[in-house]
This record gives sequence, structure tokens and C-alpha cells, in this order.
Amino acid sequence: MAKKDQQACSFCGRNRKEVNFLISGVSGEICDSCAEQAYQIVQDSIDAKKKASGQSIDKSKVPTPKEIKTYLDSYIIGQDDAKRYLSVAVYNHYKRLMQEIDDDDIEIEKSNIIMVGSTGTGKTLMARTIAKLLQVPFAIVDATVLTEAGYVGEDIESILTRLLQAADYDVNAAEKGIVFIDEIDKIARKGDNPSITRDVSGEGVQQGLLKLLEGSVVNVPPQGGRKHPDQKMIPVNTKNILFVCGGAFDGIEKRIAQRLNTRVVGYSSSMSTTAIDKSNFLQYITPQDLKSFGLIPEIIGRLPVLTYLKPLDRDALRQILTEPKNSIIKQYIKLFKMDDVELTFDEDSLEYIVDKAVEYKLGARGLRSIVEGIMMDKMYNTPSTETKSVHITKEYAKAQFESSTLERLKLTS
Ligand code: ADP
Repeated sequence: MAKKDQQACSFCGRNRKEVNFLISGVSGEICDSCAEQAYQIVQDSIDAKKKASGQSIDKSKVPTPKEIKTYLDSYIIGQDDAKRYLSVAVYNHYKRLMQEIDDDDIEIEKSNIIMVGSTGTGKTLMARTIAKLLQVPFAIVDATVLTEAGYVGEDIESILTRLLQAADYDVNAAEKGIVFIDEIDKIARKGDNPSITRDVSGEGVQQGLLKLLEGSVVNVPPQGGRKHPDQKMIPVNTKNILFVCGGAFDGIEKRIAQRLNTRVVGYSSSMSTTAIDKSNFLQYITPQDLKSFGLIPEIIGRLPVLTYLKPLDRDALRQILTEPKNSIIKQYIKLFKMDDVELTFDEDSLEYIVDKAVEYKLGARGLRSIVEGIMMDKMYNTPSTETKSVHITKEYAKAQFESSTLERLKLTS
């Protein structure tokens, strides 16, 4: 070994006198400034890796489940149970993205979500609102168009095409996105027994879907549609994509009721018949009910968070009309305000709108078409006048609704 004062840094060549200090190794030395640079290089490469795998998420910026729910509350009326489940699932999803696989070998698994509730109760709205909060790519796909490879319809992989498109083809971003699969009940197997004949839109599709839910690298056709031999595929890893499924599962309440009844009558159950809230059987839904509806156990296993949405009652519809941050009425007020017109509604005109939505069984979706019908004349005429305020009374609402939309709604209801 060289004499102490002849020693020099093996990286930059400066000798002991030229540096603050030298660290000696087995066969060389490193000076303080080279050590610092080496540390920076290592740190940068760790950061880059973390960024690629999503670990760059700043923990202090991750909203808590309560904060997520409060956010959902400002857009969605009611549905407290579903909101709590979703908030926790999303919070855990963040943790999953942040986790570092260390020595304990514990890897937090994905908590995909399934929401059961009749159409128009807010399933899509819930997923959409969450995606806005998370600021991750979000895609909605309809399970009804999916078929097994080789049949008319869309391949399972097209689900990811939508997500890629939403992410502007940034694969990294898409791999942390959220996919909302609507009408998942439509790919249920018909009947409880595995069919012996080919089931184009049922079990085969579920098997395909399983692959995505489990987390695997899938070759995605960038333009969607059918896989084409000439099309260059983009590999997408679904490991960190959160899947939220929704479905009406028509008739599932009957199965739940049956299950609850037999249990209550047959065995000494802790739940007495009187304790069951018969107005909403969905709240007692279990994975077993999904299985008896025709989802394969493997799919159910990959959708561990099961929650439900309540049918919207009159009170909920009334609140939906005015309370959410972007409620229908607020939207119309904004439309008029852009023309410097102040739009106001009498309370009983709003009650009238809700009554009509209930009467025609149009649910929350119908509220918009009813308001549209009532406002059509004013929207057409007001911009060409000097009017600075428009007030809607119940009488006006009634006259407009009856003259313009009644027939149309009758036909579509
Ligand atoms: P689903 O996906 O359950 O069929 P959507 O989420 O598409 O229903 O709801 C349709 C529309 O009805 C939404 O865009 C929203 O305007 C309104 N809506 C439904 N449920 C709610 C709710 N709980 N709170 C606020 N608005 C709602």
C-alpha cells in the first residue's frame, strides 16, 4: 500500500492534501467529494426506480379515508356504506402503490371493488368522482360488449385500450389508473351450474377478465377493437390498476331474501326476522349471492371489496337536484349566468320536478330530462332579450313540462 501521504482518490486522482479526507478501501481510496457524488448517483437511480413504480407518491399528500369520503360527499348524495368502502379501498390502493417490498416479504394485494345497485343510483358517478380526486387516468367500459376472443364483439384487452387512450398512451400512468367496468352482471353465467355448451358472453369472458384482475402483463391493441396481426401491441401490466365493477344484478334481492329467510327459519341465527330491513335486502349481500347469480368464484375472489348502493328515494332525488357541487340546478344557473341572467326556482317548482321523476320512475337520470324540458323555452328565448332575471314557478314548470316533454317521457318510460 502506498505511504499515507502519497495516497490519492482512486476516482479523481487528487491526493490526501488536496481533499478534506480520504476513505481507504481494500484496494483503493475515495475522497469526500467523490463519495458525495457517488451517493447522489445512487439516490437518483433509486428515485427514478421509485417513480417508475409509483413509490414517488408523497405520503403526506395522500388523503385519509375520511377525507376521501368528505370529498365524495360533496358530489354524491347518500350511499354512505359504498362511500366508506370505496374510501378505504382507495386509501389502501395508495399504500399499495407506495409499498416497498422489504425483508418481511409482505406484499399488499389489490382490493378491486364491486358495487351492486340498481341503475342510476350513482355507481359510475362514484368511480368518476374518485378518479378526479386521485388524478389518475380513468376509463369506463361496458361489460356487455365484451366477448370471448374469436367472437363478434370486443376482446377483453380493449378495456385497457380505453385506459391507454385516457392516459394519452403514457403506459406508466395507465398502469396506475382506474377502470370502471359497468354492467358486470351481464357477463354472469346463466344459472348456477357450469354450462356444458359454449357460453360466448358469459364464463369465457369472465375467465378473460380474471387475467386482468389478477395482475398480469397484457398485450393491448392501441386502437382497440379486434386484435390484428399487423397491429403493434403495447404491453401493459395490470398489477397496479384498480378495477371497480358495477352492476344492477337484477333479481339478486330475491336470492338474498331467500337466503336470509332459510337461515333465520332453519337455524338459531343471531339475526331474527324482525331485525332484517326488508326495504333494502342489498345491504346483506355476500359473495355467495354473486356466485349464485353466476359470477365464477375466481372473479369474486379478485373483487374482495363488495358493497351496495341504495335505491334513491324521494328525499335523495330532491337533494340530488340542488345539493351536489355540480347539481343539475347549479348547472342551469351557471348556464344562465354566462349570459348575465339570474336564474331562480321556487321551492315548489323543484318539488314538482322530483314528483315527476318519481311518478315516471325515471330516477336521478330523469331529473335532467325533466329540467331540460322545463327550461327549453327560456333557454331558446332569453339570450335574444334584455331580460336579466328568470324565475321558475311551479305553474310555469308544470305548463312547460306538460306541453313539451310529457309525451316524449311517456314513450321512453
Ligand atoms: P349508475 O352507474 O348507478 O347506473 P350513474 O352514476 O350513472 O348511475 O348515475 C346517473 C346520474 O344520476 C349521475 O350522473 C348523477 O347526475 C345522478 N345521480 C345518481 N345517483 C346519485 C347520487 N347518489 N348523488 C348525486 N347524483 C346522483
